[in-house]
Amino acid sequence: MAEIISLANRVTRIAPSPTLAVNAKAKALKAAGADILNFSVGEPDFDTPEHICAAGKKAIDDGHTRYTAVPGIQELREAVVYRLKEDHGRHYTPEQIQVSCGGKHGLYNIFQALLDQGDEVLIPAPYWVSYPPMVQLAGGVPVAVPLAEQDNFDLDPDILERCATDRTRAIIINNPANPTGSLFSRRALEAIGKMALERGWLVVTDDIYETITYPDEKPPHILDVDARLQDQTVILNGVSKSFAMTGWRIGYSAGPQHIIKAMNKIQSQSTSNPCAPAQYAALAALTGPQGFPAVMKQAFLPRREFFVADLTAIEGVTCVKPNGAFYVFPNFSAYYGKSFNGKKINDSVAMADYFLDEAKVASVPGAAFGADDFVRFSFATSMEVIREGMIRIKKALAALG
Ligand code: PMP
Ligand code: GLU
Repeated sequence: MAEIISLANRVTRIAPSPTLAVNAKAKALKAAGADILNFSVGEPDFDTPEHICAAGKKAIDDGHTRYTAVPGIQELREAVVYRLKEDHGRHYTPEQIQVSCGGKHGLYNIFQALLDQGDEVLIPAPYWVSYPPMVQLAGGVPVAVPLAEQDNFDLDPDILERCATDRTRAIIINNPANPTGSLFSRRALEAIGKMALERGWLVVTDDIYETITYPDEKPPHILDVDARLQDQTVILNGVSKSFAMTGWRIGYSAGPQHIIKAMNKIQSQSTSNPCAPAQYAALAALTGPQGFPAVMKQAFLPRREFFVADLTAIEGVTCVKPNGAFYVFPNFSAYYGKSFNGKKINDSVAMADYFLDEAKVASVPGAAFGADDFVRFSFATSMEVIREGMIRIKKALAALG
């Protein structure tokens, strides 16, 4: 069909989410009968716990099927306040909480509320694929702050200083991080906190993987660096990862009231409110037993051990051991420049394509995360799949010449 109607510049400047695109491709190939092992998308391979599903079903039976308050039902916002106090000793009021359609939409709301044309946001790289496009969609400019593999992807304050300008409005922290699984050190957070206080930046701390850390330590947090930072920090979190609720689409933000109010204005004109029954399910998640992330971690831990050990045993491959989340992010750059059947592999996109075509292994190229030397594999999949995947990956790498 002829494309008569042109599209907005803002759309043509961004790409569709690569994590979701690879996942869709892997699922389609599998549905067509291909023997694909899917390491692409980051979602727990667990079902939502029964008591949470029951609360969602009950909400429908009880007639919670209409619009709710724009920032989410009062009980859920109170439950978020309770968790922040109980788990972290932080003090918020329900007016400082917004419930959104997933954490992703919470981030979208934050940048829509904060940024004017040309405002810069510092994004430590490797970063989660959606941060830069969300900043761009709000008219902002994403500025990558490079993190080094040899520093375990911790942030170097001198590099941060060099990336900051007088157009900087915000910085994103993702602790533990997607795709590296790394944690920022206390030293890095202190440097960020100091600069944020001096220069009036908003700190966006994406804590979505906070319950999934190895070992069990709580990740260091920006709000523990200096209490004053609470006035210029928005915490982003949600139930997708902690309670295996990716499809329910419930996230939440906690921050200064005027920012949350602005985000509510945007939400009122876009999604109105997150899905009502899903909010009741999330309420059961936050107020019920909190042991579920530990159950998932029990399964993730041996997978992490095996994956990292097997990858780093391959000649030329390095892989930082993740301290959290459920991804490994090996560096395959030693294999760039090699060929298979006359086709050269020069970057992470070609490497991930090669894994998919020749090894039937779906992964996400590091370029999507701003780090072309790497490829991301999610280990939120069974040990058998990981074992078989590693056999195929090793065979594919050995076939390159
Ligand atoms: N932040 C990070 C770093 C993520 O990996 C994800 C996963 N999609 C999200 C936020 C948002 O998750 P959701 O929208 O499912 O809450
Ligand atoms: N955050 C997950 C991932 O990185 C889910 C997909 C997405 O929203 O990007 O794979």
